Amino acid sequence: RTQRPLSRARSLVTLDSRVPYSTATIKQSKGYKGHDMLAPFTAGWQTTETEPLVIEKSEGSYVYDVNGKKYLDALAGLWCTILGGNEPRLVAAATAQLNTLPFYHSFWNRSTKPSLDLAKELLEIFTARKMAKVFFTNGGSDANDTQVKLVWYYNNALGRPNKKKIIARAKSYHGSTLIAASLSGLPALHQQFDLPAPFVLHTDCPHYWRFHLPGETEEDYSTRLANNLESLILREGPETIGAFIAEPVMGAGGVILPPNTYFEKIQAVLKKYDILFIADEVICGFGRLGTMFGCDKYNIKPDLVTVAKALSSAYLPIAAVYVSPEVAEVVYSQSNKLGTFSHGFTYSGHPVSCAVAIEVLKIFKERNLLQQVNNISPMFQDGLKAFSDSPIIGEIRGTGLVLGTEFTDNKSPNDPFPPEWGKFLPTFWIGSYFGAQCVKHGMFVRVSGDNVAMAPPFILSPQEVDEIISIYGKALKDTEERVQ
Ligand code: PLP
Repeated sequence: RTQRPLSRARSLVTLDSRVPYSTATIKQSKGYKGHDMLAPFTAGWQTTETEPLVIEKSEGSYVYDVNGKKYLDALAGLWCTILGGNEPRLVAAATAQLNTLPFYHSFWNRSTKPSLDLAKELLEIFTARKMAKVFFTNGGSDANDTQVKLVWYYNNALGRPNKKKIIARAKSYHGSTLIAASLSGLPALHQQFDLPAPFVLHTDCPHYWRFHLPGETEEDYSTRLANNLESLILREGPETIGAFIAEPVMGAGGVILPPNTYFEKIQAVLKKYDILFIADEVICGFGRLGTMFGCDKYNIKPDLVTVAKALSSAYLPIAAVYVSPEVAEVVYSQSNKLGTFSHGFTYSGHPVSCAVAIEVLKIFKERNLLQQVNNISPMFQDGLKAFSDSPIIGEIRGTGLVLGTEFTDNKSPNDPFPPEWGKFLPTFWIGSYFGAQCVKHGMFVRVSGDNVAMAPPFILSPQEVDEIISIYGKALKDTEERVQ
């Protein structure tokens, strides 16, 4: 993005008393300085200056660090612990399964009762369209790798060996294995890893506020993006494009909601060229948007669906791939010809993870968590969107229990705060500083450059929503005071 000169002169207050990104964590985790773990997605670990913030205990919507400091976990771990930090029924379900059958695999047509029961339940609750089969993996990344392998296997079976390219979108996040990182549209996942793989193409990020042209309506913008997608397909040759992958609402890319009519128009293009639709529901699935799946909210009729995270409320690792009847039938007949479908993981359908997921889905129904999300989300959304007037916020956007804040100057997507303010910090200064203030005041959010995301647990009480709003307000005030 290009940076225009700021129309109002702003400067950073007391530049030389820079606050380190991890200001609130320094000196909190004595004994772990320069620790032995190569931490995922961590900036600065190699300096040994950064001490990790060590979390020791969780309780409801809160987590506690090793010094006993309490944080409202407004990101539910990593958008996943929907039932909060100490749901005894999940512990009981895991314990019962551990006592009966801690492990058996699902290879060679052997299986376990929890994996079969969970697959059945998952097919019943997905109603955006009929799905035929479920394949289990360990997490969202290997589930998305599985999707690409299914697309390739499917097209090989159909005698279309060239129909293998996958179209993903700029700013998407689909995981960090080789293929999932390639699909992701975030440059940091590609740089220095020789990615993306050559069979992955990226089309537009559907962010209306940031990318629409003057006078362009949301509908016009969606039409333009669908036309761009079609041009890309035609340029590459429709016979070379196997699938398109999209998160219904983009999560890690900054909580980006699709503009009106976007998915309707995108799906029409895909259908025209016989391109499969993979819906990555890893964040949206199981109620976060106020509907059971993102596909329900946006009328998406996918061929393949990825779910993870909330499926087990993250108490144990598990993800799943839904396969449509059309794709399943081709995969079945081909694997019968070949003698086997040679793909799977030791822990595919792990019985303890499946037992926990079954219990999550039971609790989900019994406590009507979908209703709970819809009851609590207006307070969460309206309370936080009330900060939209802040001079350092460009846009606050969200739906259900997911919300993103984008910091920019002059309310304009074209006026990011000067990147040099982040010179001494791993990411742009404003979002990082805001995130550090949230930590200081006892709340976790997700910082990514000038975007801050929140996705709290579904068990959130009205008092906890008030607390989120209050801490957000304090952190914002601190941040505004650093900018003149
Ligand atoms: N897809 C989406 C939409 C995600 O948000 C994530 C993780 O945040 C993944 C895939 C990757 O999942 P995992 O980290 O379990 O591999």
